[in-house]
Amino acid sequence: MSETPQAFETLQIHAGAKPDPATGARQVPIYQTTAYAFRDADHAAALFNLQEVGFIYSRLTNPTVFALQDRMAALEGGAGAVACSSGHAAQILALFTIMGPGMNIVSSNRLYGGTVTQFTQTIRRFGWSASLVDIDDTAAVEAAIDENTRAIFCESIANPGGHIADLPALAEIADRHGIPLIVDNTTATPYLCRPIEHGATLVIHSLTKYLTGNGTVTGGCIVDSGKFDWSANDKFPSLSQPEPAYHGLKFHEALGPLAFMFNAIAVGMRDLGMTLNPQAAHYTMMGIETLSLRMDRHCENALKVAQWLENHPAVDHVTYAGLPSSPVYDRVAKICPKGASSLFTFALKDGYAACVKLIDSVELFSHVANLGDTRSLIIHSASTTHRQLTEAQQVAAGAAPNVVRVSIGTENADDIIADLEQALAKATA
Ligand SMILES: *Cc1c(COP(=O)(O)O)cnc(C)c1O
Repeated sequence: MSETPQAFETLQIHAGAKPDPATGARQVPIYQTTAYAFRDADHAAALFNLQEVGFIYSRLTNPTVFALQDRMAALEGGAGAVACSSGHAAQILALFTIMGPGMNIVSSNRLYGGTVTQFTQTIRRFGWSASLVDIDDTAAVEAAIDENTRAIFCESIANPGGHIADLPALAEIADRHGIPLIVDNTTATPYLCRPIEHGATLVIHSLTKYLTGNGTVTGGCIVDSGKFDWSANDKFPSLSQPEPAYHGLKFHEALGPLAFMFNAIAVGMRDLGMTLNPQAAHYTMMGIETLSLRMDRHCENALKVAQWLENHPAVDHVTYAGLPSSPVYDRVAKICPKGASSLFTFALKDGYAACVKLIDSVELFSHVANLGDTRSLIIHSASTTHRQLTEAQQVAAGAAPNVVRVSIGTENADDIIADLEQALAKATA
């Protein structure tokens, strides 16, 4: 939406947030309202026909949420954005808009644990399916695509192992098959990686993580590049054909680059109702104001901690992509040149038991199922977030039983290292 050529650090503060026209309030107000008075019957009809953009009912959108959507679209360089009640809701809404029964996606197997479960189990109830493949094996990606495939899905920097996807290579395959590349950019944030610049069509976020940045919110977002031609083939009838769920509107013809966003709100959000509340949107916008500052510090701290861990005798290996020993180190310069974020895993030589002991011995680190907080966080994925996966799936996802996941915070790096040092001493005693 925003076409201002300003730098990221400026946009993260100003995009979507002009002084409130009614009161002059400088910060975006929390519009705690369910509904909006129509000027008259014609105004109401125009809004319901999408002939005029405005507010109807807060399940669809709300001025505070709208401001956040504008900011996210500006930061990702997209045409429009839709905010949702969680990252997982954003994934479902993105798929809902482009899928139908019998359709499938081809997805990376390096995924947030909840996404593995959502894709391999839960989406089947919609009649959808997913093939999980190693996305570094482009022949396997290609082979998994069939006439019912509607998207390729991956995480730019994958949770939990920090693997970096070769986005241009995947975008090229998606383009050739006339389907969108969907990128979960949660771990990277738009400050470190802008997937649309590498050919992605839809960018998904869990706002819960680095974007809000302080562990106060559950939220999600989809940003659309606005560049995909939904009418180039007959694969996306909800966008290219008369939409029966919206009195026959042809979204792509009527709304052009905003077709996906309007369809996701007017049909998906209207009927599935995974709405973000204005209070959460407000907290998230406050967090985003300092995103670049926090991410620089997260990356700097993560590199120091990863280097220290790599030289520790109890540690078998560290997966941080910012280390020259990482097999995807060369992708940092290409995909996320400002840094490889602060989420990574390390494996202990003494295996599962030592991992559990380590978790129980940390003091500064919080043992929680979250990431992207200013606080340093730690978890043993195999017994928690990735517990419902088979051991083979755990290993493929980068969450083997001897692996611990950390999200390095913005505290002083020496204090973070000191905590790991004392906990590793106890874990391997
Ligand atoms: C947390 C997370 C999600 C899910 O987001 P929620 O806000 O918890 O629903 C999806 N993808 C990644 C990479 C995540 O880290």
